[in-house]
Formats: sequence, C-alpha cells, structure tokens
Amino acid sequence: MPFDTLGLSAELLRAVDDQGYSEPTPIQQNAIPVILNGKDVMAGAQTGTGKTAGFTLPMLHRLSQSPATKGRRPVRALVLTPTRELAAQVGSSVETYGRYLPLRSAVIFGGVKIGPQIKKLHHGVDILVATPGRLLDHAGQKTVDLSQVEILVLDEADRMLDMGFIHDIRKVLGLLPKKGDRQSLLFSATFSEGIKQLANRLLDRPIPIEVATRNSTADGVSQVVHPVDKARKRELLSYMIGSRNWRQVLVFTRTKHGANRLAQQLEKDGLRSAAIHGNKSQGARTRALAAFKSGDVRVLVATDIAARGLDIAQLPHVVNYELPNVPEDYVHRIGRTGRAGNEGEAVSLVCVDEHKLLRDIERLLKRKILKVVLDGYEPDPSIKAEPIQNGRKGKGRSQSRGKGGGRRDRRRSSTPKKTTSKASPAPPKSKSEQSNSTGKSVPAKTKHKRRTRRRSSAI
Ligand code: AMP
Repeated sequence: MPFDTLGLSAELLRAVDDQGYSEPTPIQQNAIPVILNGKDVMAGAQTGTGKTAGFTLPMLHRLSQSPATKGRRPVRALVLTPTRELAAQVGSSVETYGRYLPLRSAVIFGGVKIGPQIKKLHHGVDILVATPGRLLDHAGQKTVDLSQVEILVLDEADRMLDMGFIHDIRKVLGLLPKKGDRQSLLFSATFSEGIKQLANRLLDRPIPIEVATRNSTADGVSQVVHPVDKARKRELLSYMIGSRNWRQVLVFTRTKHGANRLAQQLEKDGLRSAAIHGNKSQGARTRALAAFKSGDVRVLVATDIAARGLDIAQLPHVVNYELPNVPEDYVHRIGRTGRAGNEGEAVSLVCVDEHKLLRDIERLLKRKILKVVLDGYEPDPSIKAEPIQNGRKGKGRSQSRGKGGGRRDRRRSSTPKKTTSKASPAPPKSKSEQSNSTGKSVPAKTKHKRRTRRRSSAI
C-alpha cells in the first residue's frame, strides 16, 4: 500500500518521501486514516514499529487544515512522553515530517534551563512535545496555556505509569479541554489494568488499533539466552563482541551503578564504551548517544529508562547483561533492535539468580526462549541462586527512587566466585539447554513519594 492512499497532504507526502520510506508500516496503515477522521485511538504498538510517524503525520495534517491564528499561537497539539530522550525524538520527527508546513513546535523537558523554553512558548507554538514534570512546572508559572489543545497524544503510556506519572497526567488532563472536545490518542506497548483505567479517563469511544500481539516482541528479532555465571558475564560479553565483530551493541544493566562499572570494564577490555543513565547530565547523554550513532563508541551501556526513546536506525545487537525485574521491560529492550522491519539479535546473559525473572518473561511472551550454553562458559552447578537485591519490581523503579536508588546492590560489591575456565579462543560451539532451577528474587520495597518520582523521572 503506497503512502499516497492514506489521505495525507502533498507537503507531508513530500516529507515522507524525503525520508525514503517506500510504504507505511502496519501501525501507520491502520492508525493514520482513523486519526485523520478525528477519532480517538487506543493503539498497541511498541517502539520500532513506526508509531511516531503513525500519530505525527495525521496530527500535522489535521492542524495544517485549519490555519494558525496570527501572532501568539495557542498550543493546539500536546504530545506527552515519559522521558527526555523520547520527547527529543518525537520533537525531531515533528520537525522532519512538518518541514513543508507552516507549523511551529517545541520540546520541553526537565534537566535543562527553563528560560529558553519560556521564551519559545511565549513566541507561540502549535505543537508541544513535553515530559509531564516540566510541563506542570510551566503550567504552574503560567508560561503555557493548554486550554486550546485540540489533539492530545500519550506516547508510551505504559512507561508513564511505570514511572509514576499518573498524578501528573491527571493534573495535565485538568488543564485541557474535556475529552470529547479534544482528540486523544494513547500509544502503549503493553496493556495492564492501569492502562485500561487511564484509557477510560482519557479517551472518548476510542478505536482500538493493534498490529503486533500485545506484550509480544517485534518480528525479525532473534532471541537467545546464554546461561552463564554472574562473575563471568563481563568476560563473555567482551568475548562475544570481539569474536563476532559486533560494531554497535546496546547493553542493558539493571542499575546506573552497574552501567557505569560495566562501561569502565569494557573500556579496559579495549572496547570503546559509554554509559547512559539518569545520573548523567543531558549533555553527557546526548554526547554518548551521538558517539554511539557515529560509531566512535562501540558499546552503549544503558539502564531501562535511559534507553526509552533511543532511536538508532538498524541497531543490530541488544544484550541483556542483566534481565529486567519487570518482564515488560524485556519487550521494550528488544524493541531497540529489529526496528522498522530490520533483522536484529537480542542476547540475554542469564545467571542462576535470574531464572525466575526469565520464567516471568517467558510467561509474558507465552513462549520459551532458546537457551544456548557456550563452550567454555558453562554455568558452575555448585553456585546457588541468591536474591537479587536491587532494581525494580512491579511498578517501582530503582531509577525513580531519588538519591541512592540503584546503588544498594551489596552483592555486586562482593567478591565474585572464582572460576577456572578462561575464554575459549575458538568460536563457541553451542548446545541447547533448558534451565529450570529456581532462583529467588526479592522485591525491593520502597515507598515512592510522588515528588521524588517527578524530579528523578526524566531519565
Ligand atoms: P518508531 O517506532 O516511531 O520509533 O520508528 C522506528 C523507526 O522506523 C524510525 O527510525 C523511523 O524513522 C522508521 N520508520 C518510520 N516509518 C517508516 C516507514 N514507513 N518505512 C521505513 N521506516 C520507517
């Protein structure tokens, strides 16, 4: 199906053509006509499916059909995203696709000076892309008026809830025209009870759109688990990157501290690496991402929240150095590879402590992931599972816990068990294994204060 059958204006088709897209992705084929029709939408689409263009193109079309008022323009479309990176990404899509239209847009998020944002808002913008915390700061200072919003988009709504933004979202909704008087679009990769409740509050007789199975991973991504002892994960990772000549690898850890430490260790192994997480300044994160995209940095080590919104074209390799505590995060991580129909590979290094996490992920996916033990890296059967002391469990997020969050993993500082075998210089031979021993994980119980969440959530 060609793009020009969807009903988009010539200016938008030209911008799409500039991008070299030959045809709309399934989410675009399904969502664009419905959104052009002015309907509310509840879309199940994970990152990498082309969802951003799926809502940006029809949103731009509708706004450009009614002329902008002269002088100071009211905000007519609001896109809420959970993270700064995703806000920046969506903002750049709005600019890219809207380049031939006379619409103005702005991106606002925390962690940077508010002054330039106030100036831009004062100048007038048609489309505002924002993280909730900073948006409410602006609303509190009366530097933004949302009373004339015609289109609201909630992007990665599941992540918003995970990050504790529900109160902020409610507040923002109170500043907008009522549902029914605005068009509302909700995008989420996964659907929990919380998302359904939010959808009820937000959407008016929504059209459900779903292109991939809920809680499923994108097609084209091959997934494999390599069982390995915790103390040998770093060695195996370096070996795989080197021996398989991976040039661009995104590696996930559970904690910020773990990300820093791993990046430093990989550097020592001669692999150019950078860490990206919530304790890094916006500038440091932008630089790390740019270096990774340009190929100067070969390995980007990221925490879950920091990785949200990262759009790296054709990222071939994602490694779960540690499995996430929340099974849905596995789906999001895997969504970083195999984007827009490209092939991708997702490798998980799983130690005995993580067997329960793996089972939870497999339950969510409703299938087993292939387990391959690599020669020379066989797990030591005498090592017993220990509780995972840190990270997130359920709705909580270590990164959202304010100071000290993600730094309490005592096990990590303990001396790793000694192993005798070294990395095999020969290419690893594989044999299948289904692991079924029981590792226990202990949820880190933390009471979340909303303010803390808001301050630290733009990760
Ligand atoms: P998203 O799911 O919005 O994060 O998009 C994932 C990637 O797909 C981005 O790099 C887009 O530039 C790309 N993309 C979006 N639409 C298309 C399309 N119709 N054909 C090919 N690539 C696309």
